[in-house]
Amino acid sequence: MCAEELDFIEKYDLLGCIQCGRCTGGCPVATRTPLRVRGFMYDGLNEERLEELSEKPEIWDCTTCFTCAARCPKGLEPLEVLIGLRSLLIEEGKVQPTVRDALESIFKDGNPWGSPRSKRMDWAADLDVKILEPEDEEKTDVMLYICCTDAYDPRVMKVAQALVKVLKAANVDFGLIGEEESCCGSEVRRLGEEGLFEMCDEENVEMMNSYNVGSIVAISPHCYNTLKKEYHGLKHPVLHYTELVAQLLEDGKLTLNTEMKKLITYHDPCFLGKQNDIYDEPRYILTRIPGAEYKDFDRCRERSLCCEGGGGKMWVETESKEERLAEIRVDDAKEMGAEVIAVACPFCLLTLEDATKVKGVDEEMRVADILELLAEAL
Ligand code: SF4
Ligand code: SF4
Repeated sequence: MCAEELDFIEKYDLLGCIQCGRCTGGCPVATRTPLRVRGFMYDGLNEERLEELSEKPEIWDCTTCFTCAARCPKGLEPLEVLIGLRSLLIEEGKVQPTVRDALESIFKDGNPWGSPRSKRMDWAADLDVKILEPEDEEKTDVMLYICCTDAYDPRVMKVAQALVKVLKAANVDFGLIGEEESCCGSEVRRLGEEGLFEMCDEENVEMMNSYNVGSIVAISPHCYNTLKKEYHGLKHPVLHYTELVAQLLEDGKLTLNTEMKKLITYHDPCFLGKQNDIYDEPRYILTRIPGAEYKDFDRCRERSLCCEGGGGKMWVETESKEERLAEIRVDDAKEMGAEVIAVACPFCLLTLEDATKVKGVDEEMRVADILELLAEAL
């Protein structure tokens, strides 16, 4: 066995797997694609098969939702084996054009959406927001980390605009990085581009550490997870916006005065809930909206269904005749009579909103980020 293959087995502790199958049993995409992650834990032990395994199209079906890892009794992270196999393909340049273009766009312009850096702040053109200066002697309480999708996507940028409105209403001292903000690399790592992720890590940490701020607040749970758990040497504490906003409400610094007589449910994003145990803050916020009624999905919190937006899936299409998980989610919401599905993640917003259109219920059911609801309830 060559050193690289032995490294693969040791890196993912494949010998620790007892083949119980709880990973595959919990995998949400196993219901609609051929992905059976337990099989990869077993087949990965055979050094002859790594290349063959990496060419199985289902390695791209994984959304990196983390359910398999959360359920593994041996503390293994089966999804990492799939990411490792993706890396083998990336090294050989064998990737779909959409993935290649997204990665090249991040390398060149700091975002995966093929947009120039000069347009990164267009979403805030009409807003009076402070752009932070590196090495500023005066400390700013909060640095907002906006996220590429919130900055460039015309639908999602409304969420970033709502955050500005909410923080101004609460008199929070905050600022933005501006055009120099770059992709956090969360999807880069999950698509298997380890070298580019290391670059994102090093360059962003150096840049963020040059600012005199009290904390970094991320809008996207994907950015939050990466800044908080995957970066090396970041000196500022990292929060998700739901943590900051829940605290503002609890401290009486943010008050909601406008009624919203709707039945609201909340879709837990995998990267906020399962991967970071943030379940209570979003619910605390939603239950404080005047006039609103709140009801959980049956499958919520740790058992929440993945929307299939993560793990680089915005750039990889899954071939399947089965219903998308986001469509199942919309059916569940309709069954409980929900009028609003609240989300706290840009990918959940896009996948679920699209699913309401596919299901033909977009007139009667709204998908909105918690921040958009808050901005309306001020
Ligand atoms: S849940 Fe863990 S131990 Fe069980 S088959 Fe999957 S990886 Fe192996
Ligand atoms: S991370 Fe989620 S989608 Fe990927 S293999 Fe694990 S359970 Fe399945």
